[in-house]
Amino acid sequence: MNQQNLRQPTRCRCGIVSLRIFLTLGAALGVTAAAQSRPRLAVVVVVDQMRADYLDRFARLYTGGLARLAQDGVVFDEAYHDHAVTVTSVGHATIATGCYPEHHGIVGNSWYDRPAHRKVYSCEDSTSPVIGDATLPGRSPRRLQRPAIGDWLKQMSPRSKVFAVGEKDYSPILSGGLHPDGVYWYDENNGDFVTSTYYTTRPPDWVGEFNRSGVKDRYFHEGWTKNWPESAYATSHGDAFPNENDGVHTTFPHRFDTTGGHPDSAYYYELPATPFGDELLFDFARTLIQKEGLGADSIPDLLWFDAAATDLIGHGYGPDSPEMIDNLLRLDRTLDSLLGFLESSVGAGNYTVMLTSDHGVLPFPEDLSRQGIVGARILKKDYDTTIANAVARAAADMGIAGKLILSQSGGIFLDTTVALDRGVAPEDLRQQVATRLRQIPFIDEVMTCNELYAPHAVVRGYRDLYQHSFPRTLAPDLAIRLTEYTLVSESKFGTTHGSPFAYDTHVPLIFWGAGVTTGHRVKDRVRTIDAAPTLAVLLGIAPPADVDGVVLKDVLAR
Ligand SMILES: [Zn+2]
Ligand SMILES: [Zn+2]
Repeated sequence: MNQQNLRQPTRCRCGIVSLRIFLTLGAALGVTAAAQSRPRLAVVVVVDQMRADYLDRFARLYTGGLARLAQDGVVFDEAYHDHAVTVTSVGHATIATGCYPEHHGIVGNSWYDRPAHRKVYSCEDSTSPVIGDATLPGRSPRRLQRPAIGDWLKQMSPRSKVFAVGEKDYSPILSGGLHPDGVYWYDENNGDFVTSTYYTTRPPDWVGEFNRSGVKDRYFHEGWTKNWPESAYATSHGDAFPNENDGVHTTFPHRFDTTGGHPDSAYYYELPATPFGDELLFDFARTLIQKEGLGADSIPDLLWFDAAATDLIGHGYGPDSPEMIDNLLRLDRTLDSLLGFLESSVGAGNYTVMLTSDHGVLPFPEDLSRQGIVGARILKKDYDTTIANAVARAAADMGIAGKLILSQSGGIFLDTTVALDRGVAPEDLRQQVATRLRQIPFIDEVMTCNELYAPHAVVRGYRDLYQHSFPRTLAPDLAIRLTEYTLVSESKFGTTHGSPFAYDTHVPLIFWGAGVTTGHRVKDRVRTIDAAPTLAVLLGIAPPADVDGVVLKDVLAR
């Protein structure tokens, strides 16, 4: 198998955070009934890159966990991320803290740290080495500037247990918050689940036993084949779509390279980009629930299940591929296994599930044109050249020589000192560059940081989403919104996310189980910042007073 892989490589510093003032749970919230049916365990399933339309589009094919959650839970049809930079670290931190990136401080998977003059990774921390793999850089949630729901829970209920697991490092690290009991992620060098010294000096024995159990190796000879009748894949764009993967390895079956005779680093690297990544994660989570005794008593516990396969498959094959359909049907089955396991171990009526996603994804522009939508794929090198030329013209306009762009991570960071040397004020420089950038056909809006944070009394559409995306100190000089359906791509293959448009911001949001109303669909527009405050009430605690989200009362059983 040769997956096109867009997984970002990986790097920290402290974000000192204090737990803030908590409200006591009041009758004003109308939560008495919910508090009485408080779950022993809440499981948050974050399906990485799950578009909202995946729920209804394939509803007739789901028979497992997704079907149960959608039929019996409270489903929000119009749930959106309310920030512009729709990438994984930002989405997970937002869901977990109930706050905008403007307040929790996670503004990308990586971003330009102006005082440090370098790009930093969302969970880098050289003081917290990964245990068991010295080749991996250190990891922790120290850049998270707000407590997450797990921290709220442990503050109010110190004997509650909080864990987070996932394939990627930043997803469970940011979901788990600042003071969880344990966080584990997949090591793509060797297929082990690992943690860092931020969490413990010695992982429990069961982690090593799981890693040595051989579970991770069971897919090596099997490979990834279509698991359902051809009719299930009929709505896909077909199995040999030329923009999939690397343009060569586009069709089922997707076999691992078994010539070495046994699983090797190439196999462990590729595994998470198949549905088997989430199946392995479920096996790990099931072991964790058993060994750590989650849901074993009436004190509520919290587990994050950050499933990444859908994202890695979506990047490579796209949301309209047979691979995506096969993956979602396997996810439906994996989630059925999860619900079945919770039923037998924690007991029906004793647990709550919340399912959502960190962002959606843009269909292949080549697929969009088949649907009559004008999309565009712009190669990254051409995009960079166009931006650089526009900035150079602006510099020439002002008689400025020298390199102006410091970084293009999440927007454009300019070296304002170069302009000051020529007597040009920083905002004048930004405005001059913005004027040139606005002439580029694939750019719809350019906002200077002063414009983003200017006082305003009206709703400003996309501009508000950009403001929500950055604390003032981490904002780029210029935020850029491309034309809708424009994909900036490293190659002619694959797709991605990261825009403020609905295809990236619209995600599923489902609450199901103990304390939740049954079988209810809500049409009102809600935000992912509302997820954690709502789950908090189900857990019997009140969210901190300074979260940005609100409690979604439609969820609460009366
Ligand atoms: Zn993601
Ligand atoms: Zn992604």
